[in-house]
Amino acid sequence: MSQRIAIVGAGQSGLQMALGLQARGYHVTLMTNRTPEQVRAGKVMSSQCMFDRALQTERDLDLNWWEAECPPVEGIGLAVPHPEQPGARLIDWAAPLDKPAQAVDQRLKMPAWMEAFAARGGDLRIGDAGIDELEALAASHDLVLLAAGKGEIVGRFERDAARSPYAAPQRSLALTYVHGMAPREPFSRVCFNLIPGVGEYFVFPALTLSGPCEIMVFEGVPGGPMDRWQDARTPAEHLQESLRILRTWLPWEAERCAAVELTDANGILAGRFAPTVRKPVMTLPSGRPVFGMADAVVVNDPITGQGSNNAAKCCKVYLDAILARGDRPFDAAWMEQTFARYWDYASYVVDWTNSLLAPPPPHILALLGAAGQAPALAGRIANGFDNPPDFFPWWRDAQACHALIEQYLPQAA
Ligand SMILES: Cc1cc2nc3c(=O)[nH]c(=O)nc-3n(C[C@H](O)[C@H](O)[C@H](O)COP(=O)(O)OP(=O)(O)OC[C@H]3O[C@@H](n4cnc5c(N)ncnc54)[C@H](O)[C@@H]3O)c2cc1C
Repeated sequence: MSQRIAIVGAGQSGLQMALGLQARGYHVTLMTNRTPEQVRAGKVMSSQCMFDRALQTERDLDLNWWEAECPPVEGIGLAVPHPEQPGARLIDWAAPLDKPAQAVDQRLKMPAWMEAFAARGGDLRIGDAGIDELEALAASHDLVLLAAGKGEIVGRFERDAARSPYAAPQRSLALTYVHGMAPREPFSRVCFNLIPGVGEYFVFPALTLSGPCEIMVFEGVPGGPMDRWQDARTPAEHLQESLRILRTWLPWEAERCAAVELTDANGILAGRFAPTVRKPVMTLPSGRPVFGMADAVVVNDPITGQGSNNAAKCCKVYLDAILARGDRPFDAAWMEQTFARYWDYASYVVDWTNSLLAPPPPHILALLGAAGQAPALAGRIANGFDNPPDFFPWWRDAQACHALIEQYLPQAA
């Protein structure tokens, strides 16, 4: 293939695309702002739990290098503390996934993929891309993909206000990677805990630099009692704050943590960002277009754990469209059409994720409660994480939701 393609950003989507195009014989330039060593030696970036359909996009490109080593996530569980009985749970169920999920620390995955890309003859450039660099890449390549995640440069894509209901961060986020947590029996799972008015906590097994671990993810309502990360000045204090939250609201999760220790001093993160959808095409001063990919144009709050899944799936849609385009030009109209194909899927993820940032309406409380009595309904909800369009229309439509509950509840009886 004679076409030259430039990608900015060596994250889930950029690297998957770079390696996928490279395998098809394209000339690929990958520009990113950190070396493999810097990524490996840096802080954790995500909890990156990926479900089967997203993992399949990696398998299809022979990129599933940690599949045998990474502990599987075999199910999804949900717990809600009882508002009047301390230590008791109002809702508590778990259901297996049809196929396991996996979370490979991006500090392990991204450097290995970057090194493979370079070893296979790819043009790997280290630098921070601004408008000048994008202009230079656009002048020398047939297509420039901007996959810079939450990097500042993505602010150059116009915000799509109609698709972005929140202008400010809706959660204060934190990650704590630990060894030594007691496993959940009889199957491993993402344990979601929803603490109304306070925030959410979820935890699941993963693979990090030092082997199998558990990743604790905290989603605190801004300004609330789970939003105190600024007071934790050291990694040890960050771990203590994590444990304080569990002891205060989720004693069944605190119990699992008697022997935990941080995986490493960089196994922590705290931050916040506003979920945002952007217009997918940036026009450079020269008039040349740049095409946005994954988080650069559709960034969700991590509450539903979909970002890496979206990145992998967005990459697949774009890669298929690039291959189908052959030698024809990658113009702005092609970019808009290709993004529209991705949006046909991503719009459901955005809607579902944004809904979970607001207090749950009565039909969702009824649904989550009913799942505790109907294992097949719990299974339907759990497996929706692999394919969020399956949540619709009933996630948003109260009438359809009640019809769904009735469909499953007789089976429970
Ligand atoms: C706390 C937290 C928990 C999460 N948990 C999950 C989860 O459980 N499951 C899940 O699916 N997703 C999760 N995510 C989201 C997921 O990590 C991201 O959505 C995913 O990594 C996005 O992939 P990407 O390719 O769009 O961007 P990224 O993976 O963010 O990669 C962007 C790349 O661009 C580079 N870059 C940035 N700016 C520039 C520039 N100007 N020039 C050159 N390079 C640049 C960066 O260094 C990086 O290499 C979580 C995110 C957070 C914050």
